[in-house]
Amino acid sequence: MDYLPLFHNIRNRSCLVVGGGQIALRKLRTLLEAGASITLVAAKIDPDIIKLISEYSNAVNMYTRKFKKSDLDQRVLVVVATDDGALNKTISELAQEQNIDVNVVDQPELCTVIFPSIVDRSPVQVAISSGGASPVLVRLLRAQIEALLPAGLGKLAELANDYRDKVKEVFKNIGERRSFWESVFQGDIPERVYTGNITEAKELLESRLADVKDESLTKQGVAGEVYLVGGGPGDPDLLTFRALRLMQQADVVLYDRLVSPQVLDMVRRDAERIYVGKKAGSHPVTQANINDKLVELAREGKRVLRLKGGDPFIFGRGGEEIEQLAEQGIRFQIVPGITAASGCASYAGIPLTHRDYAQSVRFITGHKKAGQVDLDWPGLVNDRETLVFYMSLTGLEDICANLARHGLPADTPAALVAKGTTAEQTVLVGDLTNLPSIVRESGVRAPTLLIIGQVVSLHNKLTWFNKTEA
Ligand code: SAH
Repeated sequence: MDYLPLFHNIRNRSCLVVGGGQIALRKLRTLLEAGASITLVAAKIDPDIIKLISEYSNAVNMYTRKFKKSDLDQRVLVVVATDDGALNKTISELAQEQNIDVNVVDQPELCTVIFPSIVDRSPVQVAISSGGASPVLVRLLRAQIEALLPAGLGKLAELANDYRDKVKEVFKNIGERRSFWESVFQGDIPERVYTGNITEAKELLESRLADVKDESLTKQGVAGEVYLVGGGPGDPDLLTFRALRLMQQADVVLYDRLVSPQVLDMVRRDAERIYVGKKAGSHPVTQANINDKLVELAREGKRVLRLKGGDPFIFGRGGEEIEQLAEQGIRFQIVPGITAASGCASYAGIPLTHRDYAQSVRFITGHKKAGQVDLDWPGLVNDRETLVFYMSLTGLEDICANLARHGLPADTPAALVAKGTTAEQTVLVGDLTNLPSIVRESGVRAPTLLIIGQVVSLHNKLTWFNKTEA
């Protein structure tokens, strides 16, 4: 081990910063966040530093002058960030003579302590260091850890801290105490905290403590809950942090045909998987069956993931499923996903609105009922608006013909995006007249999304994804 990682309590303790540029500014900010009492010495001080200091009244004494040896008196830490190599070395040596910890920015050989990269969910903190070997690697690691840790983790730790003594009273034995906390952190309390329901989280914790005597600990911690999660249009990179977290902790997942295999792969390995997809035309699992199943599984105390393609509230029937849960008093969370229109448009380089071409956008279902697409056609004719049709592959000809018949120019650009955002994405471009035959000849398969409007003309210029395929 090259360094000993320690967390340094410098609250109200005296630190010296030498240097007045942007690098000094960054260190100063970190020290101020940790509550240090700071003396800053520099020949010249950046206006950004002065601004920062003004936000932390009284925490910094600032001197615009050269460093002198007595600046080191009574310090617990010295941070040096000047561009004068000789001065940096001198200060480092003087500090070490007096056993004062010293950090010289970007010169590990002059340091007794180094700053880690920090993931801050105070009071929970993660510090990462490569001992100066590769700052870029550390930065990437930090991004991964940032993505892994819920934003509300600090609040959860605070809650645990508030209840430490109470829990100690109930469980005298350290092993029991540990199991209790494990069941709390692996149960449903963290999600209450992360969704901002702190009062509920406290009530739950107290009730768990109250009935602890008559229940076995392993049975505790989980009341059934349903997570209605938007899995996005296909590319797993488009999942939200929350979606991923819930996917990782679900006991059972009910998923649709539209959820891509790559997205499904992100679900916890040992979660039970139930396919509830509907094929066009045949409905092997009815919506009522799904709604009942969600209730049934949650009643068994399971964490049920209802995973949907795109966004659950956009042509996803998410509302219906949740209504039944609400009526039955079952807890749920709703996590938005990137809807097909957003995903396909971005990955096809077609902006849905544009100051020059479209001031509005409409999401429309192109689903055929009784053999035809039944829509308010005159109401859809507006050449300053982008129209996005979901579920429109079989109705494509109908849609294009009806729009043209009702007055949308026949040469209005139109695109069909198939399997958008996935490695198999195909974008077919034409206009109201020729798109149907282009699509027919290509033999593309569902899911497809139809985008109509002047914005489609930007596709050639803005294309960036799967370029060789397009
Ligand atoms: N809730 C989903 C939509 C469900 S309706 C969402 O927000 O995206 C199903 C329709 O979505 C499909 O018929 C198709 O039009 C569209 N769709 C979903 N994923 C798609 C994809 N990867 N590429 C193209 N269209 C897609």
